Amino acid sequence: MKDKILALEKIALLLEPGDKKRLEVREKVIQYGEDFLDEIEELKAYIFTEDKGAGLLESPIKEEPENIEQTLELLLNNVDIPGLNPASGGHLGYIPGGGIYYSALGDYLADITNRYAGIFFASPGAVRMENMLIRWMADIVGYPSTAAGNLASGGSIANLSAIVTAREAHNIKSKNIEKTVIYLSSQAHHCIDKAIRIAGLQECVIRYIPLDSNYRIIPEALEKMIREDDTAGLSPFMIIASAGTTDVGAVDPLEEIGKIARSRKLWYHIDAAYGGFFLLTDYGKSLMKGIELSDSVVMDPHKGLFLPYGLGVVLVKDVHALNKVHQYQANYMQDALEFTDEPSPAELSPELTKHFRGLRLWLPLKLHGLIPFRAALEEKLLLARYFYEEIQKIQGFAVGPPPELSVVTYRYIPKKGDPDAFNKKLIEAVQQDGTVFISSTILNGHFTLRLAVLSFRTHIKTINTLLEILKLKVEELEVMEP
Ligand SMILES: *Cc1c(COP(=O)(O)O)cnc(C)c1O
Repeated sequence: MKDKILALEKIALLLEPGDKKRLEVREKVIQYGEDFLDEIEELKAYIFTEDKGAGLLESPIKEEPENIEQTLELLLNNVDIPGLNPASGGHLGYIPGGGIYYSALGDYLADITNRYAGIFFASPGAVRMENMLIRWMADIVGYPSTAAGNLASGGSIANLSAIVTAREAHNIKSKNIEKTVIYLSSQAHHCIDKAIRIAGLQECVIRYIPLDSNYRIIPEALEKMIREDDTAGLSPFMIIASAGTTDVGAVDPLEEIGKIARSRKLWYHIDAAYGGFFLLTDYGKSLMKGIELSDSVVMDPHKGLFLPYGLGVVLVKDVHALNKVHQYQANYMQDALEFTDEPSPAELSPELTKHFRGLRLWLPLKLHGLIPFRAALEEKLLLARYFYEEIQKIQGFAVGPPPELSVVTYRYIPKKGDPDAFNKKLIEAVQQDGTVFISSTILNGHFTLRLAVLSFRTHIKTINTLLEILKLKVEELEVMEP
């Protein structure tokens, strides 16, 4: 047996490459990253390819190792070329992504040391770091010291956590679900509907609150709905508002809604996945006044703090509410569960073993300080306003409401023919070109183009490029029209 163990050990040791081998592989990987960053300004924001990455399937996982050069080649051709390039400043669709460099180094170190960030006993420092970052964000929102939160993988999971927390805090049981009412905006992100379903709340009464012409909740209409539901013997339970909707970037009147929620004793959740970090600007702070009245809020550092994908945050005003739904006990955890002042992520989220996500946020915040983040956010707000003005100077373009944050909606009204069909062709032409990427939505039944500025790499040059491309493509399409 001993011989066998030693023989296996020899092979297993291949999993621990020596320093020479590490250097060799690391240099290639670093070079790959450097090549990408060197070219980022010229790289397209979208690339259509014939096989859409299917080349990966021609290279199955094998028993024998392969070399780093060929492996990176596979990655480049099949993953990093086809489709959307979220790291590009030309990504102006959906809600753009980020990818600040120091986050990548944070992930690198988190993966090398592999600290166990789920439980205070296992890694008090990692848990303290995450709690400190959560505290920092709770301060930005204006939550009291009773608040807690969790670093989740993204906004969808963070919203789910908040909704499950609300359900438990208000003791919603299946027997009274059909009388329980949730109020939200038809502009709420689809992950909210998904979370309601996953949380088992699908059979609640779901009320869509009327919106004003800028797609914001009308507080008086909300209050009237609640009153009527109360009178009808239903149980109003939760209001979900948005601080930055995905379609148009609308910020609901957070303070007025907060007062209604408080007087009616409803759970008040705000989805600020997109808009939340604009609180780092003076303008955003005044626009989102009242956000502190909420019981829970979600923000996405992988949007508004320009981090690479993989970080959304849920904040809950009352730590006990978050803990009530996520607490657990298990015999095999008896050494790890000691009482401390520092709550552990495992007690406040569905996860146990988790990625040490704090480091990818902490490192860039430490190395950059807040100054460039605030400036970049303010720049994005102004770029959206700049585009809103400039697009109206190109004949034929009509715009939606003035941007509250960094989303602008607009469409071209062709000289003749169906505007919806024309704008569909226009967006296809822009996407085929690929220099910049824009997306679309349906507003009031109309096919509408959207500009969303949130990449830290988007600057005035990018917006001018988009304006030029739109002008050119419109001219080409107008000529082609019969
Ligand atoms: C992006 C977004 C979400 C979903 O967050 P993910 O991080 O993509 O899971 C939820 N709500 C709003 C308003 C968003 O912009």
